[in-house]
Amino acid sequence: MLLLSGPNMGGNELKYVTECIETGWVSSVGSFVDQFEKMSAEFAGTKYAVATSSGTTALHICLILAGVGENDMVIAPNITFIATLNAIKYTNATPILIDTDAGNWQMDLTILADFLQNETEQRNGVCYHKATGKRIPIIMPVHVLGNMCDMDKLMQIAQQHNLTIIEDSTEALGSYYKGKHAGSFGLMGTFSYNGNKIITTGGGGMIVTDDEALAKKAKHLTTQAKSDPFEYMHDAIGYNYRLVNVAAAMGVAQMEQLPGFLQRKQAITDFYKKALTGVGDIVFQEVLPNVQPNNWLPTIFTSKQREVLKALNDSKMQSRPFWVPMNQLPMFKNDLYVNNNDRSDYIYQHCLSIPCSTYITDADLEAVANKIKEVFA
Ligand SMILES: *Cc1c(COP(=O)(O)O)cnc(C)c1O
Repeated sequence: MLLLSGPNMGGNELKYVTECIETGWVSSVGSFVDQFEKMSAEFAGTKYAVATSSGTTALHICLILAGVGENDMVIAPNITFIATLNAIKYTNATPILIDTDAGNWQMDLTILADFLQNETEQRNGVCYHKATGKRIPIIMPVHVLGNMCDMDKLMQIAQQHNLTIIEDSTEALGSYYKGKHAGSFGLMGTFSYNGNKIITTGGGGMIVTDDEALAKKAKHLTTQAKSDPFEYMHDAIGYNYRLVNVAAAMGVAQMEQLPGFLQRKQAITDFYKKALTGVGDIVFQEVLPNVQPNNWLPTIFTSKQREVLKALNDSKMQSRPFWVPMNQLPMFKNDLYVNNNDRSDYIYQHCLSIPCSTYITDADLEAVANKIKEVFA
């Protein structure tokens, strides 16, 4: 079976994990957590990084720290992985779903700008949704598939309407806009180390920020809000959202290999683009000139989506459709969905992701491309 995007444990993972086990430092204390955080902040170009148990819990903590609660609305793209929306719902806030850009498959910035212009108003420097009277404090862009939108434009829209940006950059470790790393644009950004991401700790996440107070609070809240080093004194309802040392040990080993993984993902994407562009009606995600994506998960757009999916999966070449758009899920069907002819559905009906593990051989890439070509022959 060719995995879609499998973990690559070819470095010092075993050595560092063994070190944890031999010394007994497997849990909440140990040097790998500090080291992983330091490496992550350095890589992302932020001052601070706080490790978490998952990307989802990282997002949840960011929203709590931004003060999001029951009477708030949070703007998010309609095409994303469910975790973005779950994190919003954990805070009891209401999502506003924005339709998808036809070219780069990120949040459509024209639809976003029009919505903010027409459907919201400013009171004392705060953005409110006119129809419901609810506050809109946050916009949560998702760098879908490690690609990025026109960040200058997004930042400008956010500033104009007094919105704080929290980035769901969980798919975008190694992605840049004008040389600035994903996750470093907003008040806070997030990474995920789930098994299929560009690096993995089995499961895990990270919050990155330049704000020292927020970083300290994030550490505090993710470790049960213990306020005394000795006594079991706690000063808030905290969470057990920390990353354990044995997972961080894997994370350090993975970070060492990240530049190589990024190179390989680029080569895989280049290969697929060369082999498949012009085959039938296949096109790839548009990448803006200022964006250097991490090429995490090569995904093609074709009207023969179902046929290609079947042909590949029947041949044990794991491939997957795009996420079902959020507005089509039962939990969100009553939430506001700002759209232009429901382009999200159109993109969902046409896209599929194809095998791209960093260790995939060139021969296997060739085989995948040939299998796809057969569908159009
Ligand atoms: C992977 C991912 C997350 C976080 O996932 P975890 O499995 O909790 O680490 C959040 N949002 C998006 C868009 C993702 O792809």
